Amino acid sequence: MNNSQSSGGAQEQPKPPFPKQGQSKPGIEAAIHPRPEYQAPLYKGSGKLNGKVALITGGDSGIGRAVAVLYAREGADVAIVYLPQEQIDADETARAIDREGRRAVLIPGDVSDAAFCRQAVERTVRELGRLDILVNNAAHQHSQKSILDIPDDQFEYTFRVNIFGYFYMAKAAVPHLKPGSAIINTGSITGLEGSSHLLDYSATKGAIHAFTKSLAQQLVEKKIRVNCVAPGPVWTPLNVSDKTPDKVAVFGQDTPMMRPAQPEEIAPSFVFFASEADSSYITGEVLTLLGGETTAG
Ligand code: NAD
Repeated sequence: MNNSQSSGGAQEQPKPPFPKQGQSKPGIEAAIHPRPEYQAPLYKGSGKLNGKVALITGGDSGIGRAVAVLYAREGADVAIVYLPQEQIDADETARAIDREGRRAVLIPGDVSDAAFCRQAVERTVRELGRLDILVNNAAHQHSQKSILDIPDDQFEYTFRVNIFGYFYMAKAAVPHLKPGSAIINTGSITGLEGSSHLLDYSATKGAIHAFTKSLAQQLVEKKIRVNCVAPGPVWTPLNVSDKTPDKVAVFGQDTPMMRPAQPEEIAPSFVFFASEADSSYITGEVLTLLGGETTAG
């Protein structure tokens, strides 16, 4: 097995086959082999987010953790929301933010609950003084082969977390966002192409893309930009805790780069959309990061 061939860039990144493994939901990053790469050693901060405050849902692990680290490296204090059973991952993210010299606030709870979302925003503003960047990134994913296998309550819960949660968080955040602020939503290739095993999840991702464009139109006058990052396969707990061990072993192999992205390769696009230096003329965009696939978007 060779887990460290280069593919797509000069950096060595892990490549399938991965060790066969599985976890119950929600997955814990600390238990994944190889560990997802989030420290972005090639990324140098340049003060793009100095003095700003970000709130990231699903910030304990995976893409959200890597975004938290780069936001801190760019000078932002960061609050993260996550499910209480993921405290071990959240603690590691808090230490990583601390190593970047910024403040971390940990807010466990469920984004499918509107009252919790309001409290999370209020706590961020109370403890960190303001809110400039909201990253809606938490997601629930549950593969099923047939529509007949999807219980109604699964369908509803996936929508409650993945799109209702984004709505609740954005609604609570907007009154605090000043001109120059940004909302960044995490979409997915499945929202563009569909996915036969992820009927409910991919439908929420399509909704997130339309939500992004609509909210961008609504908030442009307030000078609040709203964009979306839509990745292909990324090596995080989401799929390790959903796919069979056989599928985890070959995860990402069907991309042109023949591997999944590492979270540290996705996070810079969230800096790009948060930073006025980079994207002041961009709102309502859905940016795909697909390892060379060119058919979508
Ligand atoms: P992840 O498991 O590391 O992150 C998902 C996070 O969502 C978890 O940290 C969990 O804390 C949080 N979460 C789930 N349900 C929640 C709830 N009810 N309340 C609060 N938090 C909750 O996985 P990830 O891959 O980093 O996922 C981040 C985003 O990326 C998701 O929106 C996902 O749909 C998207 N995405 C992932 C991939 C991929 O292949 N990993 C591909 C495309 C898009």
